[in-house]
Amino acid sequence: MIYNIEFETLPREAIEAIQLKRLQATIERVYATVPFYRKKFDENKVCPEDIKKLDDLRRVPFLTKQDLRENYPYGLFAVPMDQVVRIHASSGTTGKPTVVGYTKRDISTWAELMARALSAGGASRGDIIHNAYGYGLFTGGLGVHYGAENLGASVIPVSGGNTQKQITIMKDFKPTILTATPSYTLHLADVAGEMGIDFKKLDFRSGIFGAEPWSESMRTQLESRLGLKAVDIYGLSEVMGPGVAIECVEVRKGLHVFEDHFIPEIIDPETGEVLPPGETGELVFTSISKEAFPVLRYRTRDITRFIQEPCLCGRTHIRMEKVSGRTDDMLIIRGVNVFPSQIESVLMNIEEVKPHYQLEVDRKGSLDILSIKVEVSEDIFSDEVRKLQTLEKRIAYSVKETLGVSVRVQLVEPRYIERSEGKAVRVIDKRTF
Ligand SMILES: [Zn+2]
Repeated sequence: MIYNIEFETLPREAIEAIQLKRLQATIERVYATVPFYRKKFDENKVCPEDIKKLDDLRRVPFLTKQDLRENYPYGLFAVPMDQVVRIHASSGTTGKPTVVGYTKRDISTWAELMARALSAGGASRGDIIHNAYGYGLFTGGLGVHYGAENLGASVIPVSGGNTQKQITIMKDFKPTILTATPSYTLHLADVAGEMGIDFKKLDFRSGIFGAEPWSESMRTQLESRLGLKAVDIYGLSEVMGPGVAIECVEVRKGLHVFEDHFIPEIIDPETGEVLPPGETGELVFTSISKEAFPVLRYRTRDITRFIQEPCLCGRTHIRMEKVSGRTDDMLIIRGVNVFPSQIESVLMNIEEVKPHYQLEVDRKGSLDILSIKVEVSEDIFSDEVRKLQTLEKRIAYSVKETLGVSVRVQLVEPRYIERSEGKAVRVIDKRTF
């Protein structure tokens, strides 16, 4: 069901008219209220009056994660603190977290967009949503929560952790929609199995999975193992939180970006040039309705491309392909670019292995060594050593065939890889440069 039929099915010209009007207003406002933006505009010899058409957005300088760090905590807020009603932060793996703020109207916009997203993902009034995204500084939990209430669904604010208790709740409360990270969902399914509960027999129709990139092969696994439709949701706290883009449950091929609130661009990560339609590159977002924390051309580091064809669901907002990796996740192994998601795709196509894996990169002399630890079932793990070695070789061969790099594969017993209640840790880089 389309939650906001008027805005989600606007013709292209109408979307662009809204975008231009809102973009101009946003730029005028940040230029007047945020010294950082004014300085950046002045240095690049651009002023708000230069933005006469949508293409003029290209003249606006980029905003990077580094800029956010340097303005920690409130330097990029565009309203006085007495108008900020909520603060979230994203944990940086390095350095300080990124702090973002919301006015009352921002929270209500977010709740509207998350209601649209949940609706696109198959939820409606009357559904019970089991929300296993973490509640707290992370935007996942509260983002889904407000959207679910706005939609009129019943939300169970279970958050991450307490996995056995979650399974009991699933069995007794009979939720119909699951929201969680895909890696935590697989852990939930494992624990359900150990408790003697068949996940497929639970009442879930859709699972709305996000906060980490996941592959098409992962979709096949999730859908066959869990007995639900797996829908990809995209968002990041810097831009808003979850609900920036979502797949429609009918098609599940590409995520609609809510273009009346965000302008997406795809750029060449090396040169910063906007790429021709359909080409793969780095995703960049400009928010055009946010009050407290507007972002102009924020470089997400996520890699994707736009799908130009109209979607069968009737929504007219452009689709982006599933994110295939991050520019900063990219491993360069002996000169070959390797994304963890590519390895994931190879692993998911091998029947004997489980979807729990970890990559480790190390350097011997000047040579990078990529090792993959991947779990197999108890049966396989206790098989003869010779059989295990054969399987290891087969996996290494598949990776070499697909990605062109040699890897070391180590099969490990079930539960060997530490489970995360949020985003999975896929890569351990031991190299020192
Ligand atoms: Zn669609």
